[in-house]
Amino acid sequence: MEAKAWVREIPRKQDNLSDWYTAVLLKAEMVDYSPVRGCMVIRPYGWAVWEAIQRWLDGEFRRTGHQTAAFPLFVPESLLRREAEHVQGFAPQVAWVTHGGEEELAERLAIRPTSEAIIMPMYARWIQSYRDLPILILQWGSVVRWEKATRPFLRTTEFFWHEGHTAHRTAEEADEECRLILDIYRRLLEGELALPVLVGRKPSSEKFAGADWTYTLEALMPDGQAIQAGTSHFLGQNFARAFDVKFLDRDNTEKYVWTTSWAVTTRLVGALVLAHGDDRGLFLPPRVAPIQIVVVPIRFEDDPRVLERARALAAALGERFRVKVDDREEYTPGWKFNEWELRGVPLRIELGPRDLEQAQAVLVARDGEGGKRPVPLAGLVEVVDSELAAIQRRMFARAQAFLQSHTFAPSSLQEALELIRQRRGFVRLPWCLDQGCEDRVREETGGSPRVIPEEPAEGPCLVCGRPAQAVVYFARAY
Ligand SMILES: [Zn+2]
Repeated sequence: MEAKAWVREIPRKQDNLSDWYTAVLLKAEMVDYSPVRGCMVIRPYGWAVWEAIQRWLDGEFRRTGHQTAAFPLFVPESLLRREAEHVQGFAPQVAWVTHGGEEELAERLAIRPTSEAIIMPMYARWIQSYRDLPILILQWGSVVRWEKATRPFLRTTEFFWHEGHTAHRTAEEADEECRLILDIYRRLLEGELALPVLVGRKPSSEKFAGADWTYTLEALMPDGQAIQAGTSHFLGQNFARAFDVKFLDRDNTEKYVWTTSWAVTTRLVGALVLAHGDDRGLFLPPRVAPIQIVVVPIRFEDDPRVLERARALAAALGERFRVKVDDREEYTPGWKFNEWELRGVPLRIELGPRDLEQAQAVLVARDGEGGKRPVPLAGLVEVVDSELAAIQRRMFARAQAFLQSHTFAPSSLQEALELIRQRRGFVRLPWCLDQGCEDRVREETGGSPRVIPEEPAEGPCLVCGRPAQAVVYFARAY
């Protein structure tokens, strides 16, 4: 296929973000459609991005004393019904198993929409004394929530995640755990995925079903819509009471434990594709790119030394970076440049006969900064290292500039409603915390309150004029 035709198959990002998104995911071989409605197939290149996220998170979880385990895929109906608010929240989205083979089951089994109801009975067995606390366990796996409208990575019926489930002696310790996880998620999003976020609590209308409160991280997509990027729930003693998880405390009295749960999902892969890609395709942050550097030998059919040196160079770089040599003979260099740009590889190294004569290689960053840059082969590893770090920084800086220029602090309700309706970004409202004021903004805009940051409220509620108790950021959302 000719290079330009290849790129033309992707619609321009600013013309139709949704079509652009789907085309890029398919062309870059991140996902494919599946024969199962609402479910996607994550192809190896897409899964490798998720694995990079997993690897980094697992390092953080180990460092902070968490352990990984595995719990069943099925939740007996009677267990799911134990916590009333929880079952009410999830009931519309639960998929049920009713038969084993031809035989109807005595009790229906839910395919886990989340695992509190299967994990808590185990904690009830494992916890007797304060000495058994805290329990800091997570599992990696997938869950099922029946969705009406689905989009690859962003909303699918089955999705992949980890879910942490911890139990603590005191409310303070449980809240500290929620915040520790929130900080790990923030560093994942900002440091690894180059996605700046607003961090805070959900208003009670948006909290997890069964939680006392929910902490959230919200990112902004190029169409001005928010995306919930991670959550950490303070579950209080709600699940402990429902599942009778008690311990004997130091003062010799029996108490219910305090629990948390928290998660990020494969949705993050969709968020980073939306945020960083451009008209040429994906642009993956170096920290999570499956291939960080592609080495393209030029005119190697004329000079066998070129391919030899390109492979040696890739081997040397491969000790520290994720590197690929594109030595396919049937494609032109221009075709290869386009393909690796489409697939979002952050750094390209070109090596031709003339470069060899001058003992240099040519670096090209995916974002075009610095143009084509000749670099001496001696010391190339260090230059590449600092260039990848610079690309990562530039990606974050661009996303942050976008977030800042799309965050508004309107001075009138009319202005606020208009900004939310037009999907301009995050709209800051001083708020009295009254549900009626929230509902009015929702109804008139189709937006929702995304996050209440830890920032002091001042002045009157923008809706009703009574004194504001909090600041809330509204947006339309994915
Ligand atoms: Zn109000």
